[in-house]
Amino acid sequence: MFAHHSYDALVVGARCAGAATAMLMARRGLRVLAIDRAGYGTDTISTHALMRGGVLQLHRWGVLPRLQEMGTPAVRETTFHYGDEEFTIAIRPSNGVEALYAPRRTLLDRTLVDAARDAGAAVWHGYTLLDLTRRSDGRVCGATVQDPAGNAFTVKADLVVGADGVASSVARLAGADTVREGRHATAVIFGYFPRIDLTGYHWWYQPGVGAGAIPTNDGRHCIFAAIALGRLRNGPWRDDRTAAFREALRQADPALPTLVAGPRPDGPLCVFAGRKGFLRQAFGPGWALVGDAGYFKDPLTAHGITDALRDAELLANASTTGTTAAFADYAATRDALSMPLFEVSDAIAALDWDLDQIRALHQTLNHAMKREVEHLYTMGDAGPPVMPANSIIIEEEVL
Ligand SMILES: Cc1cc2nc3c(=O)[nH]c(=O)nc-3n(C[C@H](O)[C@H](O)[C@H](O)COP(=O)(O)OP(=O)(O)OC[C@H]3O[C@@H](n4cnc5c(N)ncnc54)[C@H](O)[C@@H]3O)c2cc1C
Repeated sequence: MFAHHSYDALVVGARCAGAATAMLMARRGLRVLAIDRAGYGTDTISTHALMRGGVLQLHRWGVLPRLQEMGTPAVRETTFHYGDEEFTIAIRPSNGVEALYAPRRTLLDRTLVDAARDAGAAVWHGYTLLDLTRRSDGRVCGATVQDPAGNAFTVKADLVVGADGVASSVARLAGADTVREGRHATAVIFGYFPRIDLTGYHWWYQPGVGAGAIPTNDGRHCIFAAIALGRLRNGPWRDDRTAAFREALRQADPALPTLVAGPRPDGPLCVFAGRKGFLRQAFGPGWALVGDAGYFKDPLTAHGITDALRDAELLANASTTGTTAAFADYAATRDALSMPLFEVSDAIAALDWDLDQIRALHQTLNHAMKREVEHLYTMGDAGPPVMPANSIIIEEEVL
């Protein structure tokens, strides 16, 4: 395993952002190592509704069939519940997207890791980034990594990619600036329920609360409730997640507690205690950020995985070119596509809207998503390798 300590790119984090980045870089002929301190196929705190852009990319990369084969149900309609009113919208087939999907992260992340390995990337689980290494001029040129036995060793890399989530060590060690911060955050409580009689995605909105039902693998629905962070921390439900979940569902729709009253969830409910969104500097000399490491927004708009996949492709394209201009283009495109989604997610996460306002916010969200899908569609095929091995040229100038 330690025969090669030198790579074109070291990707830290091997979930949706990191594994997708490693896969795409390897398909373009780059020598890539991805590491993750977590285990292969493990779960993470996240619901997992994919939007059109994410499905479009998984389809184009040839990954979607694997998820379908593993029984991920097709989602062909979305129902929005605004108070007593509900609207069902059929998913219109276009750009190779026949339906939406919400694979469990145990499946999605593992499938992307498998695809990265198939493309020639090395992916090591149980390995932790400890530090970045730098040249005398300050440029990042690799990392110190700890193996599962606790031994530290050095990996040389032209580029170190932080795909290591919201608390990114790469961002901290590289000194990435935070260029934008959100103002609001929701707390999310969710669980997996069998025998829920609902078709497609369902999203419920009432002032102060949101909820959702997401069909996923093994005949389960992921049911979630989102409330303002302060209400969970300071409210009467602070120490009782089940009571908080049921009360938030009741506020979203009085019929919802009945929906989940019969079937027992698989295991305890999960709680995400909330975090305000941020946008970090996307790259610097010898390093770049992708996925939540560089850009996080409140999960109530269910768009983080879709954007992580988007940025994986943008960054893989930039890395293949390897010039300062290409990385600058990565940053500019990420920011241009992200900012409308970031702002509207933050506004929705405030949970201070009335029902007319949330409808208007959803219109804004819809426009931002359409723009993103159009951009992704023009990015083209990211399938077979297009460059010979070992052809990366990371420009030497200090970025
Ligand atoms: C409650 C909740 C619900 C959500 N629901 C949705 C949804 O429905 N749809 C959607 O699209 N998005 C959703 N999201 C957002 C989505 O989860 C994230 O956008 C997505 O996980 C980002 O993927 P990532 O690969 O960037 O980071 P992560 O999934 O956080 O992966 C980072 C990886 O880096 C590894 N790592 C960290 N530090 C190190 C280190 N030092 N060394 C080695 N490895 C390291 C970790 O082990 C981890 O595996 C939700 C988020 C939350 C919190």
